[in-house]
Amino acid sequence: MSIRKPRHFPFGSKIHGTKLSNKCPIVKAPAPERVYISVSQHIGAPAIPVVSIGDKVKKGTLIAEASGAISANVYSSVSGTVSDICDIVNGLNQKQKHIVIDNDFTDEEETFSNFNDFEPETLVNRIRLAGIVGLGGAGFPTAAKLTPKNPLDTLIINGAECEPYLTCDYRLMIEKTEEIYKGIKYVARALNVKKIIIGIERNKPRAIEAFATYSDLDVVSLKKQYPMGSEKHLIYVTTGRKVPPGKMPFDVKCCVQNIKTVLAAYYAIEYGKPLTESVLTVSGHGIKEPKNVQVLIGTPFSELIKFCGGTEDAVKIVAGGPMMGKALVNLNHYVRKTDSGLLCLKNTETSTQSPSNCINCGLCARKCPMRIMPMYIESFALSGNFKEAERYGAMNCIECGLCAYNCPAKRALVQSISFAKSKIKEMKNGK
Ligand code: SF4
Ligand code: SF4
Repeated sequence: MSIRKPRHFPFGSKIHGTKLSNKCPIVKAPAPERVYISVSQHIGAPAIPVVSIGDKVKKGTLIAEASGAISANVYSSVSGTVSDICDIVNGLNQKQKHIVIDNDFTDEEETFSNFNDFEPETLVNRIRLAGIVGLGGAGFPTAAKLTPKNPLDTLIINGAECEPYLTCDYRLMIEKTEEIYKGIKYVARALNVKKIIIGIERNKPRAIEAFATYSDLDVVSLKKQYPMGSEKHLIYVTTGRKVPPGKMPFDVKCCVQNIKTVLAAYYAIEYGKPLTESVLTVSGHGIKEPKNVQVLIGTPFSELIKFCGGTEDAVKIVAGGPMMGKALVNLNHYVRKTDSGLLCLKNTETSTQSPSNCINCGLCARKCPMRIMPMYIESFALSGNFKEAERYGAMNCIECGLCAYNCPAKRALVQSISFAKSKIKEMKNGK
């Protein structure tokens, strides 16, 4: 058994917040009567519906097809009838096309046919066909990440799960260790790399021990420090390589994949299953029974809340973790491939304080793991000076939320920086 220590990473913070569902085994949520499946569950172009209202589908039927290299197929998560294809404004205030399917509860399922070889190209094609995207939250189509322009030498598996509350990756690591290991090996083969590192925060000793039994994995026991799960920081602490500003992990010959992504690859390759389910943590002191839940994609969040006993004095509902997740403005929100959490927070766990003027304390800059100056970027974003926002490093922001978390004036720094980033991208695309 070999477990390695990471390199020192001088930035970032310890974040308060407990992992309430650490000891809760993954349970299956009941299938809902109706699922609402978005065609935009990934970075890139929305998938294009290939079914019509009234069509019969099975679990695993392709319902929307990828519309380019950076896009992903979408599959039905239930058997039943397509009852609507419509735009829905979801809980994040985003208008997205959804395919609505009435469940007939027959559980009829279709899978891909077997394939004949395990060559890298075949594995990547299967992962592309299955609609697998980065399930750590980013949603970048995995097949595109597995076909870099230059050869890589290292695959890094992100088992940090550094956000408070979230425990679904941890539970998967101890409940599905063998399946995850096989998924890792398939992904390494697809990339044609030999060196495999798995980084796990040291507050998950059972997961570290579980993976340390595989002699071909280099297990790194990470310090509990936020945002340890960010790609660039994980690459540095596990390999010593620095990804320069504006560059990507493949520029330093690395590829980072999340626990759930490699597990989805395993099911797609070994059993021919497309991606139709997710595992997420329902937590926070505002939910009566915190759980780790295996759930069908398209399940309404309201059904998940009901399954976990309902809410109690929750003042904020968040999709994702408390640092990088987004507060919901309504409950017209449906489980997507990339969801990892649904948090119901009481007022003791979140700030409902209105923002006040910046007092120039500099705390946001001191805490920023990317060494940029959030207060200046926010100010440029609010005054519409996106060129200066870019000059001050807006595009290097990983939206980890540490600046806003530490800001005594409760400035909405991340929203402003994120807005600046989208405007800078528009400027570059000539819009
Ligand atoms: S500016 Fe971006 S990278 Fe820096 S702390 Fe804020 S959110 Fe994180
Ligand atoms: S932490 Fe908040 S108050 Fe302090 S400089 Fe940054 S934005 Fe201003």
